[in-house]
Amino acid sequence: MPSAILTRGVSHRVENFTESVIREMTRLAMEYDAINLAQGFPDFAAPAFIKEAAIQAIRDEVNQYSVTWGDPALRQAIAEKYRRFYRMPIDPDRHVTVCCGATEAMISTLIALLNPGDETVIFEPFYENYGPDSILSGAHPRFVPLRGGPAGWNFDPQELAAAFNERTRAIIINTPNNPTGKVFTRSELEIIRDLCVRWDVLAITDEIYEHILYDGRQHIPLATLDGMAERTITISGVSKTFSVTGWRIGWALAPAALANGIRKVHDFLTVGAPAPLQIGAAHAINHGDDYCRNLSAEYELRRRWLVPPLQAAGFRCQWPEGAYYVLAGIEPFLSSAEETDEAFARRLVREIGVAGVPGSSFYHDPRLGRTQIRFCFPKQDATLNAAVERLRRLGAPAPPEAPAPAPRS
Ligand code: GLN
Repeated sequence: MPSAILTRGVSHRVENFTESVIREMTRLAMEYDAINLAQGFPDFAAPAFIKEAAIQAIRDEVNQYSVTWGDPALRQAIAEKYRRFYRMPIDPDRHVTVCCGATEAMISTLIALLNPGDETVIFEPFYENYGPDSILSGAHPRFVPLRGGPAGWNFDPQELAAAFNERTRAIIINTPNNPTGKVFTRSELEIIRDLCVRWDVLAITDEIYEHILYDGRQHIPLATLDGMAERTITISGVSKTFSVTGWRIGWALAPAALANGIRKVHDFLTVGAPAPLQIGAAHAINHGDDYCRNLSAEYELRRRWLVPPLQAAGFRCQWPEGAYYVLAGIEPFLSSAEETDEAFARRLVREIGVAGVPGSSFYHDPRLGRTQIRFCFPKQDATLNAAVERLRRLGAPAPPEAPAPAPRS
């Protein structure tokens, strides 16, 4: 007989969201020995220069807590990087909070800056975490659709404007975007800027894929637009750029008055990010400009390994403009009107041996993602090749067979 404390269970807050489907698909991929194109992390080596710097830091006894909001060397490196790449004036002592990944930077920012009843504006489909993040911070999200088509993923400026009101406190922008691969253009960012200024709203930007861009596109931090520096929290990290997703080193850059709040939440959640890995990250940022500039070319090759074969196999998808995901239409493969994206994704793991993320994970209403699956491509050629080979076996289902003739009496 369970005790009363157990039957009462978890908090209402936690009851309102489910476990991460992205992480669940990784578990499933391991169980069935499938190729994991679900959770977005590289299967190739991190560059030697970042690893050596972290190893050296451990040897040098950087093994105790760092300053809670970040080792001074890393905060300095971050500030200088933003000056070099984007001409952003960042004060390492007042603006930077180093966190346990961009994930923690986002949740610490939302908890620090939002009150229950505040509204956030979020483009949909959205990175899975923003849903639970909103619930945990007590904010009410309003979703604005990004619609995919031959011209990429776009929003309707009028729909965006209609999402703002006097309760709106923040908009979350993820560019380059997970899961659509959209890169917001300057004119789109200007539309967002005008609404933020008009309604006195904060912008919280997740720029973790800032160095993965295709076809000559440029990354534009929203904070660099006129009127936005004082109302933008810029979030990024080393995970995707330097292929160290397990290190958990990210950051939030914010005006000092807001950074103070973010630092408080961060401190009580985690005390600090791993100290020696912060030194490794500082070294990589200080010496990695060429590496960052080459990253897009590397990912361009992987994009070419995956997108055309997916299209040839019958998935309906656009070329991503940035980041390393493809959100693909699966209509031709659904075995019946009842088969959901989740059922399809599970079938793909079990029968074909490839894992992706069901589209519904990226929508507030699962029905909206029912005909989609997300594949990621931060993988070696051999991995992508093997995945493509397996996906070819999928084949569009044959039309339903003619009903068997009625038995003769
Ligand atoms: N951002 C990655 C993705 O979307 C990894 C998510 C995670 O598990 N932290 O797949």
